[in-house]
Amino acid sequence: MSISKRILVTGGAGFLGSHLCDRLVEQGHDVICLDNFFTSQKENVAHLLGKANFELVRHDVVHPIWLEVDEIYNLACPAAPGHYQYNPIKTCKTSVVGAINMLGLAKRCQAKIFQASTSEIYGDPEVHPQPESYRGAVNTIGPRACYDEGKRVAETLFFDYYRQNGVNIRVVRIFNTYGPRMHPYDGRVVSNFIRQALAGEDITIFGDGSQSRAFCFVDDLVEGFIRMMNGPDEFPGPVNLGNPGEFTIKELAELVIEISGSTSKLCYRPLPEDDPKQRRPDIALAQGRLDWSPTIELRDGLTRTIDWFKSIDLSRFRAPTPNY
Ligand code: NAD
Ligand code: UDP
Repeated sequence: MSISKRILVTGGAGFLGSHLCDRLVEQGHDVICLDNFFTSQKENVAHLLGKANFELVRHDVVHPIWLEVDEIYNLACPAAPGHYQYNPIKTCKTSVVGAINMLGLAKRCQAKIFQASTSEIYGDPEVHPQPESYRGAVNTIGPRACYDEGKRVAETLFFDYYRQNGVNIRVVRIFNTYGPRMHPYDGRVVSNFIRQALAGEDITIFGDGSQSRAFCFVDDLVEGFIRMMNGPDEFPGPVNLGNPGEFTIKELAELVIEISGSTSKLCYRPLPEDDPKQRRPDIALAQGRLDWSPTIELRDGLTRTIDWFKSIDLSRFRAPTPNY
């Protein structure tokens, strides 16, 4: 039987964070979910509120917090391009100052700390698929830089606290992930396409739709998080977590239309600046060190996600807080 730990999940009310909280609460841990609700709704964790081993704290990670914990999963950060570009300076602060505050907390408590990094640190990659050894091609001054560079500095801080202070770290680089509880108005491709298909609206393809992504279902990803956190201390990462099945954006649109039985047509819009042309994880390291591979095919994951989108009341979701 595993020992119950005090676990802090920053960004715990978000898409990935809420699924992680579900798993940790189910495992019997004492879970503190910390969030400022910038891109999430309390509804994502409302079902956990009555549980004795779950606690919800409204807090912004750019400010220090005094807690006693054994483990920290640091997920707080807007993740969708539309969300993180809403207030880019704040995005940078959340990644960098948030990492400093959480690493300081980990150092004081001697807690193990996990960082949700991203495939965006590879930028618009010249190497395909991307292994962890690839150093990336990021435009430091483009519209995605607040997120990409913020996450890169966060990785740097994690490894400096590890070398300088002996903090026990885990760093994962997450590739595009989808599933129930994605913010329906986050502007990400899966949520946009599903929402548009269910409403019978045109499906907005940016560019010619030949750019590719590899999509991981949320349950697979959370399993990878837990394996990494509980893996050997000698393996701090960084490690890629994602599904290596690669699809063009046009293929994704056609699949969403087919599964949802929609009559929507494809329409084409300009490609956003610095939009990566292709992305697919090399997951050999995660397979070898964590014995982890995704198990859920895109078709199955999309079917489950479409069912969830059908079940929600869209009027209950709002865009990120104005004037934030
Ligand atoms: P999300 O927007 O649903 O969740 C992020 C959560 O962080 C939200 O609940 C938000 O309110 C909270 N938050 C934002 N700024 C905060 C702050 N300053 N203080 C406290 N809370 C704050 O996004 P997600 O998809 O669940 O992403 C979670 C993490 O995973 C992020 O760090 C993101 O960068 C990373 N990630 C996600 C993906 C993906 O495909 N979903 C890919 C790569 C990396
Ligand atoms: N995209 C699209 N239509 C949309 C939303 C996104 O064609 O309505 C494209 C976007 O230009 C990118 C890909 O889908 O090439 C994935 O975009 P997303 O914002 O989901 O995440 P990214 O991987 O770019 O961070």
